[in-house]
Amino acid sequence: MRTPLIVGNWKMNKTASEARTFVRDFQQLFEIPADAEVVLAPPFTALESVRSSLGPTSWIALGAQNLHWEGHGAFTGEISGAMLLDLGCRYVIVGHSERRALFGERNTDVQKKVRAAVTCGLRPILCVGESLTERETGQTEGIIAEQLSSGLDQLTAADLRAVTIAYEPVWAIGTGRAATVAQATAVHRSIRAFLAKGWNDDAAATMRILYGGSVTAQNAASLLAESDIDGALVGGACLNPDSFAKIIAAAKRNPIG
Ligand code: PEP
Repeated sequence: MRTPLIVGNWKMNKTASEARTFVRDFQQLFEIPADAEVVLAPPFTALESVRSSLGPTSWIALGAQNLHWEGHGAFTGEISGAMLLDLGCRYVIVGHSERRALFGERNTDVQKKVRAAVTCGLRPILCVGESLTERETGQTEGIIAEQLSSGLDQLTAADLRAVTIAYEPVWAIGTGRAATVAQATAVHRSIRAFLAKGWNDDAAATMRILYGGSVTAQNAASLLAESDIDGALVGGACLNPDSFAKIIAAAKRNPIG
């Protein structure tokens, strides 16, 4: 079974105090742990308050939105994987399209970040996805193959066990226009085929591939019902405890293969 993974990417939202309120309200919505693995990815400045609000035995994991590939040194404004691990992070989002488009992250930077995360014991969530023009000109599969081959370069099949892939079409992020189930499924299948070819069938079958892009409480169930969609990376709809909890409730376990 691939346990579904639902990740809330808060982006640059919520102060440390607002984060405490969110966690309190959010936890009250669950009497027992969800069927899915759940990750909250607040800004760096709220990681500590989310961690302490969750408590040491929480079933909800902590994630960061970015990391630097070096462990330490003269990199003003940057945060290393070791720092994130020390704060209790288990996951880190890498190569989000906003990082690529607004902060100039290239595939080669993303590759170094994925490798740094795996090496230090974090679980990277590698984001890939095409722009609208790339989709309309038939380049979707090629663009994603390029992002994957660079992002996963030099990783062994064993390393891949720490990695999650998030398919996030750029045109669907924050637009209210989610990919259709058919569009998402087609890309997820091509990602799995890419992994089988580049590594092996087992690596392809065990990889969790999340969909991200305007996932809401309304469309989550139809997307997450697909056996090739193993969870969601959620932006806007994760900022409200109720809508995020509804998305989590829509996740079901998918048999491998
Ligand atoms: C995201 O930022 O990863 C994202 C998917 O955002 P939204 O859900 O708001 O489209």
